[in-house]
Amino acid sequence: MNKPAKAPSIIELYPEETREAATLLKKAVPLMMRHDIPPNPVHYALWYTYSKGLDLELNRRLDKTVADFDSFPPETAAKLFRDFIIKGELEEARAGQQQVIELVDDIEGNVSRSILGSRNYQMSLEHGLAALQEPIIDDLPNVLTELQHSTQLMQDQQDKFLSRLSAAQQEIKNLRSQLERAHVAATLDSLTQVFNRNAFSRLLEQTLASQHDGVALVILDIDHFKQFNDQYGHPLGDRVLQHVGQLLRETLPARGIAARYGGEEFCIILRDCFDVETAHAFADQLRMKIQSLRIKVRSTDQVLDTITASFGYALARNDDTMESLLTRADDALYQAKRDGRNQVSPILGGAVRSA
Ligand code: GH3
Ligand code: MG
Ligand code: MG
Repeated sequence: MNKPAKAPSIIELYPEETREAATLLKKAVPLMMRHDIPPNPVHYALWYTYSKGLDLELNRRLDKTVADFDSFPPETAAKLFRDFIIKGELEEARAGQQQVIELVDDIEGNVSRSILGSRNYQMSLEHGLAALQEPIIDDLPNVLTELQHSTQLMQDQQDKFLSRLSAAQQEIKNLRSQLERAHVAATLDSLTQVFNRNAFSRLLEQTLASQHDGVALVILDIDHFKQFNDQYGHPLGDRVLQHVGQLLRETLPARGIAARYGGEEFCIILRDCFDVETAHAFADQLRMKIQSLRIKVRSTDQVLDTITASFGYALARNDDTMESLLTRADDALYQAKRDGRNQVSPILGGAVRSA
């Protein structure tokens, strides 16, 4: 037996530099893993001392215990800890505890970083460390049992956590695409694929809340659409609305927003549109494109008809609300209807841009 006659104090047991301590820990951790030893403070201290080879009697006892038992009995660990690490004297015990706490802090930092979902382990570790700071560890066997129990549970929890995590990731993915679809359904008009009226109102409100300068609103309404429906049927009328929606999407300038405001009425928000001419030119270009649409019989490609639309627009003034801007643009649109349709009404009340 090589146990020294008088055991060195705990301070003398652990005088090494951090780097050396890390090397020893690297030896201790695989040993603990090989023997399925729960990673708790007491075991770290025991197996650290084992790796250091300081006390061959301790090494012999540890070797024997792992050979004799399938899982390391917590009572044995507690006893070995008391006999070989703390060694009875209060002051030394305190210093030893502090040493072990620091040691475990270090290990905890290194080891638990690689352990996902080890919150329970960390809690039990903290609990264990707190218990170790009590003057004398009467309760050590209980603490150890608790620690061992929770660290044994840890592996299961990790596995469950990881499989839940990957299931959750898939679920999150599905949810996200469902949400995206729901969002699209909630904001787009399903027939024409431009924004619906609700989304448009929200977007116009948001736009005006952040700026008025450079904002213009264009409204268009298809001419004599009731007549078109009556003549060719509602399904073909729907196809016309789809074509107009597509045209709007294609014609929209950067940062522009197009929406179906009502049955055959569409709105466009223009940004960076600072003058009447720009708004007017945009609306007139759209008017001509709508006029150029050829409504054909699908099977024969025969041209059935053409459609036209009337336009009104308004440039946002500083004091404009959504309603006042819409009203001015709408009034202009109805002026275009009165003036004979298929035209862009000049801006009402002159080219005043801001109040
Ligand atoms: P105006 O030139 O004065 O605008 O005449 P209009 O016939 O276009 O106007 P009116 O308001 O009298 O009729 C609008 C028509 O738009 C009536 C309705 O059948 C048609 N409409 C509204 N929504 C839809 C739709 O979703 N699909 C189809 N096919 N037609 C629609
Ligand atoms: Mg109409
Ligand atoms: Mg209408």
